[in-house]
Amino acid sequence: MSSSDLFKPALERAVSHALHHLSSADAAPVNATADLSTLRARFAQPLPEHGTDPAAVIDDLVRDAAGGILGSNGGRFFGWVIGGTLPAALAADWLVSTWDQNGAIHACGPAEAVIEEVAGGWLKQLFGLPQTASFAFVTGTQMAHLTCLAAARHRLLKQAGWNGEEQGLFGAPAVRVLTSSERHGSVERAVRMLGFGKRAVTALPCDIDGRLAPETLAQALENGSQPAIVVLQAGDLNIGAFDPFAELIPIARRFGAWVHVDGAFGLWAAASPNHRHLLQGVELADSWTNDGHKWLNTPFDCGYAFVADTDAHRSAFSHRTSYTQFVDDARDQIEWNPEWSRRGRGVPTYAALRQLGRAGVAALVERCCAHAHALVTRIGSLPGAEVVWEPVINQGLVRFLSPHSGATEQDHDRQTDAVIARITASGEAFFGGTTWRGRRCMRVSICNWQTGTDDVDRAVAAARRALG
Ligand SMILES: *Cc1c(COP(=O)(O)O)cnc(C)c1O
Repeated sequence: MSSSDLFKPALERAVSHALHHLSSADAAPVNATADLSTLRARFAQPLPEHGTDPAAVIDDLVRDAAGGILGSNGGRFFGWVIGGTLPAALAADWLVSTWDQNGAIHACGPAEAVIEEVAGGWLKQLFGLPQTASFAFVTGTQMAHLTCLAAARHRLLKQAGWNGEEQGLFGAPAVRVLTSSERHGSVERAVRMLGFGKRAVTALPCDIDGRLAPETLAQALENGSQPAIVVLQAGDLNIGAFDPFAELIPIARRFGAWVHVDGAFGLWAAASPNHRHLLQGVELADSWTNDGHKWLNTPFDCGYAFVADTDAHRSAFSHRTSYTQFVDDARDQIEWNPEWSRRGRGVPTYAALRQLGRAGVAALVERCCAHAHALVTRIGSLPGAEVVWEPVINQGLVRFLSPHSGATEQDHDRQTDAVIARITASGEAFFGGTTWRGRRCMRVSICNWQTGTDDVDRAVAAARRALG
């Protein structure tokens, strides 16, 4: 038996199960139907003493996972901010596992290193970022924050006469982190991991549209002399708000601050002629993050970090040892990434961008925004519902009102959670809840390439039934 014959049965089973999973998405419930104890009872067998035939392992896996796989790869999933997978990106991801290269350095996987280099350049073009910026492909925006803010740490401390990589942070000059109140929690986690401490973060209030006002930022920067990192939002997690970059970044510059932009999904607005204006001035920042696994629809996990100051970026991560081999002129991923061994994360992005092209990315963004608008306004106009935030891009909020006379805000909160739970239990659509400006709301996010008018209709019908 050749070695390919040994792979064949398991891979063929995987393809067959995958195709079945994808083709039954329309009919299958979008929520989980197997509970925790059921899943544990199926998987938590004693550590096997003896091996199992590979194809049987795959069949058992699929059998035991039944009911525990959310329909997040399909068109009726509107929870959190979660994309699906494009066909080319999914197939490319399978190949990455098949090739099984270590994406640490060019010498370990020459083709994948070049693919990543090209994909990084394409992303900078789509986002309108400086072509000279450096980049890293990481697991998601969480690690992209860490990567970008490590570069910020390097430069700000260096300017204060401190070498953070050599001397560490004990005794180092303090660095402040100014964010808006709408920041994602991953910003704080990055700040914790980098050793600044959560107390370094000051959350500044936003205006009614969720944007940081220039006066607010200027005042905060004036109220302190320590080096500062300013974290701005390109699409916040609840309403997709964009900070006014063209006004804020020059202010931050005056104070010598490093400006970092959390554009986990919102940076994709740059690809759409109708929404590009929201990002005006964003290219003036020092660093930016984005996720491929959200709006570009690559499989998990895939995020991007971009840094204008390539020297600061490289100084934070550069690592050369005697046993690694370097190829002159090649791009070694380890010079820019926090990881050592890693998968060839650029390949699914390359495939996704090839599948869509510039026009396809623009169409995807436009379509998701239009569907999000329809979904929020149609559910919000049902009896017993109200629109809390009409989508500007792909994010909106709806609230459900208690029908009882004299109902309090708490009653509306409870009704909102109850209706979300009923919609989810129907298996027809999946939404999450959030507390926004003190009130419970249903969050609506669309970033799946497959979401179509039928899916929106089904979700509205499910909301109508849950209210009735
Ligand atoms: C999803 C998200 C993050 C975190 O990204 P991960 O890919 O989950 O690490 C950060 N910020 C915003 C605005 C997000 O939507």
